Amino acid sequence: PRVNVLVVGGAGYVGSHAARRIAAAGHDVWIYDNLSTGHREACLPERLIEGELADRKTLTKVLTDHKIEAVLHFAACCYVGESVTQPAKYYQNNVVGTLALLDALRAAEVSRLVFSSTTAVYGTPDKVPITEDTPLNPISPYGFTKRVVEHALVDYAHAYGLGSIALRYFNASGASREGNLGEDHAPETHLIPLVLQVALGQRDKITIFGDDYPTEDGTCVRDYIHVEDLAEAHLLALDAVEPGTCNAMNLGSEHGASVLQVVEACREVTGHEIPVEFGPRREGDPAELIADASRAREKLGWQPEFTDIRSIVETAWQWHLEHPDGYSS
Ligand code: UDP
Repeated sequence: PRVNVLVVGGAGYVGSHAARRIAAAGHDVWIYDNLSTGHREACLPERLIEGELADRKTLTKVLTDHKIEAVLHFAACCYVGESVTQPAKYYQNNVVGTLALLDALRAAEVSRLVFSSTTAVYGTPDKVPITEDTPLNPISPYGFTKRVVEHALVDYAHAYGLGSIALRYFNASGASREGNLGEDHAPETHLIPLVLQVALGQRDKITIFGDDYPTEDGTCVRDYIHVEDLAEAHLLALDAVEPGTCNAMNLGSEHGASVLQVVEACREVTGHEIPVEFGPRREGDPAELIADASRAREKLGWQPEFTDIRSIVETAWQWHLEHPDGYSS
């Protein structure tokens, strides 16, 4: 059935892809975003409502006016490094802001929520692949803010009947196959867009953070998951979420790629040499993060389409070639 959905943070990278996918499935989709890091160009203008996450009153009115039945919540600060130097910003936006949203949901009697969580809630896991039962030991303020909200969701399900699914993303990457939505962060800190900036001539080389990890080639291994596969999981979660229950699910491809393998894939896709230099390790980087996503496969019927890093990089390269300066291109 057609559902009225509010996508909070729907102008951002993952949120915009999810909003489009959910609208394509026939739902009535509204986007709520303050455009602090999101992009107006990533939204249908007549569907964008500009507002603050912490503004409980406005949120409640939007939920009521549009008869919203389910909310997807993407609005968060998401830089691990920045969260270490500016934790106040992270606790304020990600925790206090989200609590305002949860209050608005209660006030408007909306009982279905899909929440963007992260692998960062696990910190440095003892073993890979990572299941959802792995203890949550975040090592960054960013990871803590997401963990705190996940705990609130458990308590709110129990006390207030809120239904939620927390989706723990591994490394979101790639761009829409249609080529008009993609990654545009300022500053950019993520590996694939940085490597592609070298291919575009926007930077000289890529610095690889550490070459002495206990992995096959000494560089960190990550599980890169395509942003459209994430979008599909949100559509499925929207259908699956039930009032009064709370679930967490990993979203990853279940395949690992090392930093060097990512660079090599970028060389193959772009035809550029892409010089690398090796630098020191980046603080807080675990050697290897690979998802066990069987819960999402079983409970949501989710199956990621992009399973190799090269096909992910191809979509990212198409986006960056056509939008060398992001949405402002
Ligand atoms: N990385 C790197 N050089 C860079 C940016 C990232 O070597 O300029 C590495 C980083 O150490 C990590 C991987 O690439 O092992 C993915 O990093 P990213 O910041 O994209 O995502 P994260 O894993 O931190 O969520």
